[in-house]
This record gives sequence, C-alpha cells and structure tokens, in this order.
Amino acid sequence: MTLNDKLDELRQRFIEQLATRLAQTQREWQQSQLSADSPARLTPELHRFFHSLKGTGRSLGFERVAALAHQGEEALTHAPAVEDISGLIERLLASLVEEQTQLQRQPPAPLPASFSAVDFSATPRASGSRRRLIYLCDDEPEPLGQLFHHLRCFGHEVVHFESPQAFFNAVLTRRPDAIIMDVRFPQGKTAGTETLTSLNRLIGERLPAIVLSAFGDFGSRLSAVRAGCSGYFTKPVKPLDLMLALDELTSPPDEEPLRVLVVDDEPEAAGYHAALLEQAGMITQQAHHPAEAFDALERFSPDLMLVDMYMPVCSGEELATIVRQQPEYVGLPIVYLSGETNSEKQFTAMAAGAEGFITKPVVPEELVAAVRLRAERLRQLRTLMTQDSMTGLYNHSTTTDLIDRALVQAYRDDTHHAMAMIDIDYFKEVNDTYGHLAGDQVIITLARMLKARLRVSDIIGRYGGEEFVVLLKNVDADTAATLIDALREDFAGVDFHAGSERFNCTFSAGISVFPTHPSTEALRVSADRALYRAKDRGRNRIIQSRETDRDTPLDDE
Ligand code: GH3
Ligand code: MG
Ligand code: MG
Repeated sequence: MTLNDKLDELRQRFIEQLATRLAQTQREWQQSQLSADSPARLTPELHRFFHSLKGTGRSLGFERVAALAHQGEEALTHAPAVEDISGLIERLLASLVEEQTQLQRQPPAPLPASFSAVDFSATPRASGSRRRLIYLCDDEPEPLGQLFHHLRCFGHEVVHFESPQAFFNAVLTRRPDAIIMDVRFPQGKTAGTETLTSLNRLIGERLPAIVLSAFGDFGSRLSAVRAGCSGYFTKPVKPLDLMLALDELTSPPDEEPLRVLVVDDEPEAAGYHAALLEQAGMITQQAHHPAEAFDALERFSPDLMLVDMYMPVCSGEELATIVRQQPEYVGLPIVYLSGETNSEKQFTAMAAGAEGFITKPVVPEELVAAVRLRAERLRQLRTLMTQDSMTGLYNHSTTTDLIDRALVQAYRDDTHHAMAMIDIDYFKEVNDTYGHLAGDQVIITLARMLKARLRVSDIIGRYGGEEFVVLLKNVDADTAATLIDALREDFAGVDFHAGSERFNCTFSAGISVFPTHPSTEALRVSADRALYRAKDRGRNRIIQSRETDRDTPLDDE
C-alpha cells in the first residue's frame, strides 16, 4: 500500500468517525443544557474535542473542519464562561455536522500536492541478507582471480562485464550496489568513465563506483572524479584495501530500521503520523491509550516515543514522567506532538524530560527529520555500549546476554542452535612477525567475513582478543560445521599485507549444540573443549563437541 492509499483510507475513516463523535458531543451538549448542573462541566471535554479535531483535520487536509474546530477551541479558551458562548458552540457543531454530511456524500477531494510530493529516498532495506551485488567492468583478461576470491569471501555477488553495452543494459535491468570499473573500458582513454557519466545522467542518480585501473595519470583521475567515482585504485591492488572502500561505498549493511512508538488517542492522527514515518523506512507501532503505550514499550522496544500532548486519562507529560521513572527507559527519546503553539506550555511539557516538540499539523519532512535525528542518537549511544569498537561486533557481555535470550526462546520454540568458538591460529606469531597493526587487520577482516557470510539473525561476538563466538540459529552441528569450514577455507586464502610482505592466516573452531548443551555456559565450555582439540590436532580445522564434553577432563584423548 502506498502512502497515498494509506492516507486515503485514513481520511475515509476520519469522516466516518466524525459522524459518531459529533453525534455524541451534540447529545452531551444538549443534556448539559437541560440538566441542572452547569455546562461548564463539559468545558474540558469540549475543548479537547475541538483541539484534536483541529489537529487531525488539518493533518488530513480537511481545512474547513479544522477551521471550525479552531474557532471552537479559541472561543472556549477566551470566553469567561461557556454559557456566554453557547450560541456559538451550537452553531459550530451544526456547521460541522453539515460539513461532515457534505464530505460523506462527496468523496473527499484529492490530497493537496504537498502530500504526494513528499519523497523520502531512504527506502527500507530488505532484511535477512547482507549480500551485495557488485558489477566488475574490465575487459583486460588479466588475472582478476584474487579479487574474485576476496569479493566472494565478503559475501558479495560479482558479475563481470567485458563489454560496455552488456554493462549498460545490466544496470538498467538490475541496479548494482557498487561498480568497480577500469577507466579504459574498453580500450581507449576514459571510455569507461564516460559510459558511467552518461548512465548517471540517464537514470538521474549517481551510481556508487570505484575505479581500478592500470593508469593513474591526471586525466584518468579527473575523468573518474567527474563521473562521481569515490575511490581510485591502481593495479596491482591489495584486495583488502578495495574491500574497505567498497564497504564504505555501500550503505552500512546491518542498519536496522528505526522503531517508533506513536501514542495518540486519535487513531487517525496516530495512523497518519505512523504512515509518514513508515514511508521514510521506519517501523512503527501505534498505541491509542496511554496504558497501551506503557505495555508496548517492553514488547516493541522502540528507539523513540512520539506522544500526543492531550489525551484523556493522562496527558503526554504524565506519560513521559511515568516512562522516565523507570531506569531502563531513562535514555528513551520522547518527542511531543501537539497542536499546542503556546511556547510557555511547550516549555513546561519539555521539563518532563522530552527531547522535542513538534506542532501539528506537521510538515512531513520535519517530522521525519526530527524523529530520525533523535532516534539515531540513541542508537549510537547503545552501539557504544554493546559493540566492540575495533570490529563492530557485539562485545563479550552483550554476546552472552543475547545468547541467553536466544536460548530462552529456543526452549519455547523447541528449536536447536549451534555455537562456534573461533580462534585465530598462531596469532601471537603474526603480531611478533608483522606487527600489531597487521594483526589488527587480520581480526577486522575475520570479523567482516563473519558478518558478511552469516545470517543477520545469527549472533556474532568478539569474545576476547582473537577469539570469536557465533550462535548459528536453527542449524544442527553438521550444518554448522560445514558452514564454518567453508569460511575457514576462504579465510585461509585471504592475502594480508604488511609493508612489502604478504602472509596468510588460519583459524580453528569448536562447535557445540543446543539443547544437547542446555545453557550458554554449557555451550561455551563444550565448544571451547572442541576448539582445544582442534588446536591440539594441528589447527586450521573444525571439531564438533561430544555430548560428554560437559564432564570429561580436557586431556582425555
Ligand atoms: P593459538 O594458535 O594456540 O591460538 O596461538 P595464538 O598465538 O593465537 O594464541 P595466544 O592466545 O597465545 O595469543 C593471542 C595473541 O593475540 C596474544 C595477544 O597479544 C594478541 N591479541 C589480542 N588482542 C589483540 C588485538 O586486538 N590486536 C592484536 N594485534 N593482537 C591481539
Ligand atoms: Mg589464537
Ligand atoms: Mg586465543
């Protein structure tokens, strides 16, 4: 469903709901006029009615409804007593009924242009895979084998083109994540970069590209810059350097969509704001009652909470205060959304610990920008706390936490998982021979390979210096062993460079399975023992744990 379809549906629902709400308000109003107690009792409710009608009406493009509601709100705010304006209130309610009938009879006018013109380029990414499509354009039949090996190790899908025409057509049918291209493609000065330039012009965007060429003269480099290439490598290239440039070029692979909890007592308003955020690639959940919002926090674990200021039962401020009083949500960004334009009231509301205030009707781009900015800041903070800064993998304590949680779930679902404990072989020697920086490069490379090749749902952690732990979900020991063994073989083929020297590295791994080993600790101990045996038998191999690994001494072989 497109944003406009969603909006049309919301508008339709708004009109239907408006009939019910008006009928109820009119009934209550008449009752209050007849009864002995003063209509003043009804004032707060009436005020909220007009206020929310104004906000949602304007958001959904019902200008006349919003204008009438605005009059009602203003009159109630400024009149000394509601009795003084009862004539006006009655007229306004009658006009609203008339407007509603009109809207019901005639399908609502198409949305103003500003709605459909909103273009959020950040489309949601397909989850589940980190695979990248790379187009390699080079018509020189020289050895590209090493490069292919490295691209594949990092989980990339590579298509090689020897003719510009084939490349041109391929881009038009299937857009790649990145392009590696020779400036002379085919032979002839800057033919490749010219192809790229005309392609970019044709599709109206800049294709992410890197140049790999035997030539590094000024003219070639300039043509590459003009074609929008973000990297320039001369042959022979160190494949790992090219990999790093590619990583930077393609968007961060495991960026999860931001999660936003939208709290608004009016379903149409909540739906509208949620639709705008989803259009921008975020995941939303709506709560139409403050108590519902409270429950959703735990189940949905949002990155940000967007709260309507005026709600029955409890105000946005009160909800924010309740949320803030719990230690686990101290850092959760809260943004208010309201028709309130009084800056003093906004200020008071902010004092409850909210990060922002957006006035209704929102400008779609502003809403998206405000939410994204604040939610991303929290993400960054969380990242610092949970990830290892060198590799970007989960740190030790987070890995353990995540595996604990996955096992609780696995008990419920009656599934099995495999754990692999991976340790680089003779790593001390690498450091001693080639230096610490070269050692770091090995660690980073293995981390990237694990991330690129395993599934997004798998848990990958750096457990210690050159030791990694992986929880492979829903696989048995044999499958896990086959998978990790393929990784082992590919990793052994990666070329590392230290100054003018070239070297290779290997790793060993031990594998254990849940529920044979029923806890994180039991999995760890048995995987560790299997790893120890792999080292003992000469390294560069994978060994599966035995059921008895829990209680057999290590030196039982
Ligand atoms: P084995 O094959 O038995 O695993 O031998 P090893 O040399 O790999 O094992 P050992 O545990 O003796 O040495 C690990 C070394 O890893 C020691 C430590 O200095 C180094 N190391 C730990 N963390 C890092 C790091 O972040 N960067 C670098 N360059 N080295 C590290
Ligand atoms: Mg080691
Ligand atoms: Mg070690």
